Amino acid sequence: MKLDVLALFPDIIAPALQTGILKRIQDAGGLTVNVYNLRDWTTDKHKSVDDYPYGGGAGMILKPEPIFAATKELNVESDAHIVFLTPQGIPLTQPLVEALSLENHLILICGRYKGVDERVRQKIVTSEISIGDYVLSGGEIAALVIIDAIARVLPGALGDFESAHEDSFSKELLDHPHYTRPADYEGMKVPEVLLSGHHDNIKKWRHVEALKRTAQRRPDLLQEYDLTDEELAIINKVKQ
Ligand code: SAM
Repeated sequence: MKLDVLALFPDIIAPALQTGILKRIQDAGGLTVNVYNLRDWTTDKHKSVDDYPYGGGAGMILKPEPIFAATKELNVESDAHIVFLTPQGIPLTQPLVEALSLENHLILICGRYKGVDERVRQKIVTSEISIGDYVLSGGEIAALVIIDAIARVLPGALGDFESAHEDSFSKELLDHPHYTRPADYEGMKVPEVLLSGHHDNIKKWRHVEALKRTAQRRPDLLQEYDLTDEELAIINKVKQ
């Protein structure tokens, strides 16, 4: 998968790409990430990327020309899925991350200031994505969130590929609780079943705990989940 990022502050993104899972998947050839500075596609001597808004008002707007020129050059195959990061976009969820991870080529456009000229959104952008209902000062951190979330679902990113599929949201449930050594920390004991070595019982316990946790914290997720009678009984008990 190829992932190109267009940003005014590439240095926000670049160091994170050299760390942990992101570095590993790139080294393994599963993902290529290029972070470009939008100023590289400016043509004036000041390398201007922004301008005042028509109609007046506060704040600057990213000019259309550098973004059109950059996407034209990066998307020579014309098959890229072009994402504009914006708080007005569709909310990023795990199913959306998984859908994006199937693309061959993604271009992420990071806004700054008041945003981008509307014609970029009308003409170039395939989808607009928000990472949450709050406003960041730029799209770079949002792009990094998307890159990280995509990277960890790509085959080969995690040591144990299965573990991504056990995470919260990958199966409509939040993840179950986790414990490591010591078995007794200042009187707080690890549940007995996890020490038993009985794999079926451990699996069952984890599923029940994931159900209970989801019912307590994110009951909305259960609306998408086809509950068995046994699972329903567990959830009703939690509600009581
Ligand atoms: N005027 C814009 C609005 O109200 O919709 C907000 C502009 S914001 C200050 C600057 C840039 O940060 C945006 O163009 C976008 O690229 C990025 N951004 C801010 N919040 C974001 C979010 N929640 N998700 C994704 N990108 C965001």
